[in-house]
Amino acid sequence: MIPGPFDYHRPESVADAVKLLATLGDDARPLAGGHSLLPMMKLRLATPAHLIDLHGVPELKFIRRDGNRMLIGAMTTQAELLASAEIKKSLPILQETALVIADPQVRYCGTLGGNVANGDPGNDMPALMLTLGARYSLEGPNGIREIAAVDFYQGAYFTALEPGEILTQIAIPVPSVNHGYAYEKLKRKVGDYATAAAAVMLTLSGGKVATCAIGLTNLHETPLLATDAAKAVIGTALDPAALKAASAAAQAIMAPAADARGPVEYRKSVGGIMVTRALQRAAARAK
Ligand SMILES: Cc1cc2nc3c(=O)[nH]c(=O)nc-3n(C[C@H](O)[C@H](O)[C@H](O)COP(=O)(O)OP(=O)(O)OC[C@H]3O[C@@H](n4cnc5c(N)ncnc54)[C@H](O)[C@@H]3O)c2cc1C
Repeated sequence: MIPGPFDYHRPESVADAVKLLATLGDDARPLAGGHSLLPMMKLRLATPAHLIDLHGVPELKFIRRDGNRMLIGAMTTQAELLASAEIKKSLPILQETALVIADPQVRYCGTLGGNVANGDPGNDMPALMLTLGARYSLEGPNGIREIAAVDFYQGAYFTALEPGEILTQIAIPVPSVNHGYAYEKLKRKVGDYATAAAAVMLTLSGGKVATCAIGLTNLHETPLLATDAAKAVIGTALDPAALKAASAAAQAIMAPAADARGPVEYRKSVGGIMVTRALQRAAARAK
Protein backbone atom coordinates (compact mmCIF):
# COMPACT_ATOMS: atom_id res chain seq x y z
CA MET A 1 0.00 0.00 0.00
CA ILE A 2 3.05 2.28 -0.10
CA PRO A 3 4.14 3.58 -3.53
CA GLY A 4 7.70 3.19 -4.74
CA PRO A 5 10.03 6.20 -4.54
CA PHE A 6 9.55 8.99 -7.08
CA ASP A 7 10.67 12.54 -7.76
CA TYR A 8 7.96 15.20 -7.84
CA HIS A 9 7.90 17.96 -10.50
CA ARG A 10 5.46 20.86 -10.71
CA PRO A 11 5.72 22.66 -14.08
CA GLU A 12 3.82 25.93 -14.60
CA SER A 13 3.07 25.61 -18.32
CA VAL A 14 2.23 22.91 -20.85
CA ALA A 15 5.52 23.66 -22.62
CA ASP A 16 7.47 23.00 -19.40
CA ALA A 17 5.50 19.82 -18.68
CA VAL A 18 6.20 18.54 -22.20
CA LYS A 19 9.89 19.42 -21.82
CA LEU A 20 10.06 17.51 -18.53
CA LEU A 21 8.34 14.47 -20.02
CA ALA A 22 10.67 14.53 -23.03
CA THR A 23 13.76 14.85 -20.83
CA LEU A 24 12.78 12.26 -18.21
CA GLY A 25 11.51 9.73 -20.75
CA ASP A 26 9.54 6.56 -20.02
CA ASP A 27 10.05 6.82 -16.26
CA ALA A 28 7.90 9.98 -16.03
CA ARG A 29 4.09 10.15 -15.86
CA PRO A 30 1.73 13.13 -15.79
CA LEU A 31 -0.24 13.38 -12.55
CA ALA A 32 -3.75 14.85 -12.73
CA GLY A 33 -6.30 14.10 -9.98
CA GLY A 34 -4.28 11.04 -8.97
CA HIS A 35 -7.39 8.93 -8.35
CA SER A 36 -6.41 6.26 -10.87
CA LEU A 37 -2.63 6.68 -10.89
CA LEU A 38 -2.00 6.78 -7.13
CA PRO A 39 -4.00 3.60 -6.36
CA MET A 40 -2.00 1.86 -9.13
CA MET A 41 1.23 3.14 -7.57
CA LYS A 42 0.18 1.96 -4.12
CA LEU A 43 -0.39 -1.52 -5.56
CA ARG A 44 2.98 -1.22 -7.35
CA LEU A 45 1.19 -1.81 -10.66
CA ALA A 46 2.74 1.53 -11.71
CA THR A 47 6.19 2.59 -10.53
CA PRO A 48 7.02 5.89 -12.26
CA ALA A 49 10.30 7.39 -11.12
CA HIS A 50 9.00 10.92 -11.82
CA LEU A 51 5.55 12.45 -11.39
CA ILE A 52 4.81 15.58 -13.44
CA ASP A 53 2.01 17.24 -11.46
CA LEU A 54 -0.24 19.25 -13.83
CA HIS A 55 -2.00 21.20 -11.04
CA GLY A 56 0.38 24.15 -11.49
CA VAL A 57 -0.61 24.59 -15.15
CA PRO A 58 -3.55 27.05 -15.19
CA GLU A 59 -3.95 26.86 -19.00
CA LEU A 60 -5.31 23.29 -18.61
CA LYS A 61 -8.36 24.35 -16.57
CA PHE A 62 -11.28 25.88 -18.49
CA ILE A 63 -14.77 25.29 -19.81
CA ARG A 64 -15.73 27.55 -22.70
CA ARG A 65 -18.06 27.62 -25.66
CA ASP A 66 -16.39 28.23 -29.00
CA GLY A 67 -19.06 28.46 -31.71
CA ASN A 68 -20.58 25.01 -32.05
CA ARG A 69 -18.01 23.33 -29.83
CA MET A 70 -17.59 23.06 -26.10
CA LEU A 71 -13.93 23.20 -25.16
CA ILE A 72 -12.85 21.69 -21.87
CA GLY A 73 -9.33 21.82 -20.41
CA ALA A 74 -7.86 18.46 -19.41
CA MET A 75 -7.46 19.48 -15.73
CA THR A 76 -11.16 20.35 -15.32
CA THR A 77 -12.48 18.19 -12.48
CA GLN A 78 -15.67 16.12 -12.58
CA ALA A 79 -17.01 18.42 -9.82
CA GLU A 80 -16.35 21.48 -12.01
CA LEU A 81 -18.28 19.83 -14.86
CA LEU A 82 -21.18 19.28 -12.46
CA ALA A 83 -21.09 22.91 -11.32
CA SER A 84 -21.02 24.43 -14.82
CA ALA A 85 -24.19 26.22 -15.98
CA GLU A 86 -22.93 26.09 -19.58
CA ILE A 87 -22.53 22.28 -19.45
CA LYS A 88 -25.93 21.92 -17.80
CA LYS A 89 -27.51 23.88 -20.66
CA SER A 90 -25.63 22.45 -23.66
CA LEU A 91 -24.35 19.01 -22.66
CA PRO A 92 -26.46 17.66 -19.80
CA ILE A 93 -25.32 14.08 -20.51
CA LEU A 94 -21.84 15.10 -19.34
CA GLN A 95 -23.30 15.95 -15.94
CA GLU A 96 -25.45 12.81 -15.84
CA THR A 97 -22.31 10.73 -16.48
CA ALA A 98 -20.06 12.66 -14.08
CA LEU A 99 -22.65 12.15 -11.34
CA VAL A 100 -22.35 8.35 -11.50
CA ILE A 101 -18.55 8.39 -11.23
CA ALA A 102 -17.52 7.21 -7.76
CA ASP A 103 -18.40 9.68 -4.99
CA PRO A 104 -18.03 13.43 -4.34
CA GLN A 105 -14.54 12.99 -2.88
CA VAL A 106 -13.25 11.33 -6.06
CA ARG A 107 -15.12 13.82 -8.28
CA TYR A 108 -13.50 16.80 -6.52
CA CYS A 109 -10.05 15.51 -7.52
CA GLY A 110 -10.59 13.38 -10.64
CA THR A 111 -10.26 15.27 -13.92
CA LEU A 112 -11.91 14.82 -17.29
CA GLY A 113 -8.45 14.65 -18.91
CA GLY A 114 -7.24 11.96 -16.49
CA ASN A 115 -10.43 9.95 -16.97
CA VAL A 116 -10.19 9.91 -20.76
CA ALA A 117 -6.36 9.58 -20.98
CA ASN A 118 -6.18 6.72 -18.48
CA GLY A 119 -7.30 4.01 -20.96
CA ASP A 120 -9.11 1.96 -18.28
CA PRO A 121 -12.14 0.26 -19.91
CA GLY A 122 -14.02 0.92 -16.65
CA ASN A 123 -13.79 4.71 -16.93
CA ASP A 124 -17.16 6.23 -17.79
CA MET A 125 -16.15 9.28 -19.82
CA PRO A 126 -14.40 7.61 -22.80
CA ALA A 127 -17.53 5.89 -24.20
CA LEU A 128 -19.42 9.14 -23.76
CA MET A 129 -16.70 11.00 -25.67
CA LEU A 130 -17.10 8.51 -28.55
CA THR A 131 -20.87 8.99 -28.48
CA LEU A 132 -20.50 12.79 -28.58
CA GLY A 133 -17.92 12.76 -31.39
CA ALA A 134 -15.30 14.45 -29.17
CA ARG A 135 -11.78 15.28 -30.34
CA TYR A 136 -8.69 15.42 -28.12
CA SER A 137 -5.79 17.90 -28.44
CA LEU A 138 -2.42 16.38 -27.66
CA GLU A 139 0.75 18.43 -27.16
CA GLY A 140 4.19 16.87 -27.29
CA PRO A 141 7.78 17.43 -28.36
CA ASN A 142 6.67 17.52 -32.02
CA GLY A 143 3.92 20.10 -31.49
CA ILE A 144 0.13 19.92 -31.20
CA ARG A 145 -2.11 17.38 -32.92
CA GLU A 146 -5.80 16.52 -32.76
CA ILE A 147 -7.30 13.06 -32.69
CA ALA A 148 -10.88 11.85 -32.68
CA ALA A 149 -11.80 10.09 -29.42
CA VAL A 150 -12.94 7.10 -31.50
CA ASP A 151 -9.36 6.65 -32.77
CA PHE A 152 -7.69 7.20 -29.38
CA TYR A 153 -8.36 3.89 -27.59
CA GLN A 154 -6.26 0.95 -28.77
CA GLY A 155 -6.44 -1.56 -25.90
CA ALA A 156 -6.76 -1.68 -22.13
CA TYR A 157 -4.51 1.12 -20.81
CA PHE A 158 -3.15 1.54 -24.35
CA THR A 159 -3.98 4.78 -26.14
CA ALA A 160 -2.74 6.88 -29.05
CA LEU A 161 -0.75 9.12 -26.65
CA GLU A 162 2.85 9.14 -27.84
CA PRO A 163 5.74 9.31 -25.35
CA GLY A 164 6.10 12.84 -24.06
CA GLU A 165 2.57 13.91 -25.07
CA ILE A 166 0.02 15.55 -22.80
CA LEU A 167 -3.71 15.69 -23.42
CA THR A 168 -4.57 19.38 -23.18
CA GLN A 169 -8.15 19.84 -24.39
CA ILE A 170 -11.34 17.94 -25.14
CA ALA A 171 -13.53 19.49 -27.86
CA ILE A 172 -17.16 18.36 -28.05
CA PRO A 173 -19.64 19.36 -30.78
CA VAL A 174 -22.65 20.97 -29.08
CA PRO A 175 -25.76 18.89 -29.87
CA SER A 176 -29.01 20.44 -31.09
CA VAL A 177 -31.22 21.85 -28.32
CA ASN A 178 -33.95 19.28 -29.01
CA HIS A 179 -31.73 16.22 -28.54
CA GLY A 180 -32.48 13.43 -26.10
CA TYR A 181 -29.77 11.85 -23.97
CA ALA A 182 -29.19 9.19 -21.34
CA TYR A 183 -26.30 7.46 -19.60
CA GLU A 184 -27.43 4.18 -18.04
CA LYS A 185 -24.94 2.49 -15.69
CA LEU A 186 -25.34 -0.74 -13.78
CA LYS A 187 -22.98 -0.96 -10.80
CA ARG A 188 -22.81 -3.28 -7.84
CA LYS A 189 -22.88 -0.45 -5.31
CA VAL A 190 -22.55 3.32 -5.08
CA GLY A 191 -19.03 4.33 -6.09
CA ASP A 192 -18.32 1.24 -8.17
CA TYR A 193 -17.14 1.04 -11.75
CA ALA A 194 -19.72 -0.10 -14.32
CA THR A 195 -20.71 -3.74 -14.66
CA ALA A 196 -22.10 -2.38 -17.94
CA ALA A 197 -23.09 1.08 -19.13
CA ALA A 198 -24.50 2.72 -22.25
CA ALA A 199 -24.60 6.31 -23.47
CA VAL A 200 -27.22 7.41 -26.00
CA MET A 201 -27.61 10.69 -27.88
CA LEU A 202 -30.50 10.96 -30.34
CA THR A 203 -32.90 13.28 -32.10
CA LEU A 204 -36.48 12.58 -33.16
CA SER A 205 -38.38 13.80 -36.19
CA GLY A 206 -42.11 13.14 -36.51
CA GLY A 207 -41.91 10.62 -33.64
CA LYS A 208 -39.14 8.61 -35.32
CA VAL A 209 -35.44 8.47 -34.55
CA ALA A 210 -33.61 10.79 -36.94
CA THR A 211 -30.06 10.55 -35.56
CA CYS A 212 -28.58 8.28 -32.93
CA ALA A 213 -25.21 7.44 -31.38
CA ILE A 214 -24.62 4.74 -28.78
CA GLY A 215 -21.48 4.22 -26.68
CA LEU A 216 -20.64 1.28 -24.39
CA THR A 217 -18.55 1.29 -21.19
CA ASN A 218 -16.67 -1.67 -19.68
CA LEU A 219 -18.00 -4.14 -22.21
CA HIS A 220 -14.73 -4.56 -24.13
CA GLU A 221 -11.07 -3.75 -23.52
CA THR A 222 -11.78 -0.34 -25.06
CA PRO A 223 -14.87 1.88 -25.06
CA LEU A 224 -17.10 1.05 -28.02
CA LEU A 225 -19.23 3.00 -30.46
CA ALA A 226 -22.16 0.71 -31.28
CA THR A 227 -22.81 1.95 -34.83
CA ASP A 228 -24.92 -1.01 -36.02
CA ALA A 229 -27.09 -0.73 -32.91
CA ALA A 230 -27.65 2.97 -33.65
CA LYS A 231 -28.50 2.18 -37.29
CA ALA A 232 -31.07 -0.38 -36.09
CA VAL A 233 -33.21 2.33 -34.50
CA ILE A 234 -32.89 5.12 -37.07
CA GLY A 235 -36.21 5.63 -38.86
CA THR A 236 -38.12 3.67 -36.20
CA ALA A 237 -40.40 4.82 -33.39
CA LEU A 238 -38.34 2.66 -30.99
CA ASP A 239 -40.92 -0.10 -31.13
CA PRO A 240 -40.08 -3.37 -29.30
CA ALA A 241 -38.60 -4.95 -32.47
CA ALA A 242 -36.26 -1.99 -33.04
CA LEU A 243 -35.16 -1.99 -29.40
CA LYS A 244 -34.50 -5.73 -29.55
CA ALA A 245 -32.48 -5.34 -32.78
CA ALA A 246 -30.41 -2.51 -31.26
CA SER A 247 -29.73 -4.47 -28.10
CA ALA A 248 -28.68 -7.55 -30.13
CA ALA A 249 -26.43 -5.50 -32.43
CA ALA A 250 -24.74 -3.92 -29.40
CA GLN A 251 -24.28 -7.31 -27.74
CA ALA A 252 -22.65 -8.64 -30.92
CA ILE A 253 -19.65 -6.31 -30.43
CA MET A 254 -19.35 -6.71 -26.65
CA ALA A 255 -16.43 -8.76 -25.29
CA PRO A 256 -16.30 -7.97 -21.57
CA ALA A 257 -13.88 -9.59 -19.16
CA ALA A 258 -15.22 -12.16 -16.73
CA ASP A 259 -14.38 -10.67 -13.34
CA ALA A 260 -15.83 -9.86 -9.93
CA ARG A 261 -18.63 -7.98 -11.71
CA GLY A 262 -19.86 -11.20 -13.32
CA PRO A 263 -19.30 -13.74 -16.07
CA VAL A 264 -19.19 -12.70 -19.72
CA GLU A 265 -22.75 -13.77 -20.58
CA TYR A 266 -24.21 -11.89 -17.63
CA ARG A 267 -22.34 -8.70 -18.49
CA LYS A 268 -23.41 -8.89 -22.13
CA SER A 269 -26.98 -9.51 -21.05
CA VAL A 270 -27.09 -6.48 -18.75
CA GLY A 271 -25.17 -4.50 -21.39
CA GLY A 272 -28.08 -5.07 -23.77
CA ILE A 273 -30.51 -3.94 -21.08
CA MET A 274 -28.51 -0.75 -20.51
CA VAL A 275 -28.75 0.00 -24.25
CA THR A 276 -32.53 -0.50 -24.25
CA ARG A 277 -33.06 1.65 -21.15
CA ALA A 278 -30.79 4.42 -22.43
CA LEU A 279 -32.60 4.51 -25.79
CA GLN A 280 -36.00 4.72 -24.11
CA ARG A 281 -34.97 7.39 -21.64
CA ALA A 282 -33.20 9.46 -24.33
CA ALA A 283 -36.30 9.31 -26.56
CA ALA A 284 -38.52 10.42 -23.67
CA ARG A 285 -36.28 13.47 -23.21
CA ALA A 286 -36.04 14.45 -26.91
CA LYS A 287 -38.19 17.42 -27.91
C1 LIG B 1 -12.85 4.69 -5.23
C2 LIG B 1 -12.79 5.10 -6.67
C3 LIG B 1 -13.87 4.86 -7.49
C4 LIG B 1 -13.83 5.25 -8.83
N1 LIG B 1 -14.93 5.01 -9.62
C5 LIG B 1 -14.92 5.41 -10.91
C6 LIG B 1 -16.04 5.23 -11.74
O1 LIG B 1 -17.07 4.68 -11.34
N2 LIG B 1 -15.97 5.66 -13.03
C7 LIG B 1 -14.86 6.28 -13.53
O2 LIG B 1 -14.85 6.68 -14.68
N3 LIG B 1 -13.78 6.48 -12.74
C8 LIG B 1 -13.78 6.07 -11.46
N4 LIG B 1 -12.68 6.29 -10.68
C9 LIG B 1 -11.49 6.89 -11.29
C10 LIG B 1 -11.54 8.40 -11.21
O3 LIG B 1 -12.60 8.91 -12.00
C11 LIG B 1 -10.20 8.98 -11.68
O4 LIG B 1 -10.14 10.25 -11.13
C12 LIG B 1 -9.98 9.07 -13.17
O5 LIG B 1 -10.06 7.79 -13.78
C13 LIG B 1 -8.59 9.56 -13.53
O6 LIG B 1 -8.55 10.92 -13.44
P1 LIG B 1 -7.43 11.63 -12.58
O7 LIG B 1 -7.57 13.07 -12.86
O8 LIG B 1 -7.55 11.20 -11.17
O9 LIG B 1 -6.10 11.09 -13.28
P2 LIG B 1 -4.76 10.44 -12.69
O10 LIG B 1 -5.09 9.33 -11.77
O11 LIG B 1 -3.88 11.50 -12.17
O12 LIG B 1 -4.14 9.88 -14.05
C14 LIG B 1 -4.65 8.75 -14.70
C15 LIG B 1 -3.75 8.39 -15.89
O13 LIG B 1 -3.89 9.34 -16.92
C16 LIG B 1 -2.62 10.00 -17.16
N5 LIG B 1 -2.96 11.42 -17.36
C17 LIG B 1 -3.69 12.19 -16.53
N6 LIG B 1 -3.86 13.40 -17.07
C18 LIG B 1 -3.22 13.39 -18.26
C19 LIG B 1 -3.06 14.34 -19.30
N7 LIG B 1 -3.60 15.56 -19.23
N8 LIG B 1 -2.35 13.98 -20.39
C20 LIG B 1 -1.81 12.74 -20.50
N9 LIG B 1 -1.94 11.81 -19.56
C21 LIG B 1 -2.65 12.12 -18.45
C22 LIG B 1 -1.77 9.74 -15.93
O14 LIG B 1 -0.39 9.75 -16.24
C23 LIG B 1 -2.26 8.36 -15.53
O15 LIG B 1 -1.64 7.39 -16.33
C24 LIG B 1 -12.68 5.90 -9.34
C25 LIG B 1 -11.59 6.15 -8.51
C26 LIG B 1 -11.62 5.76 -7.19
C27 LIG B 1 -10.44 6.06 -6.32
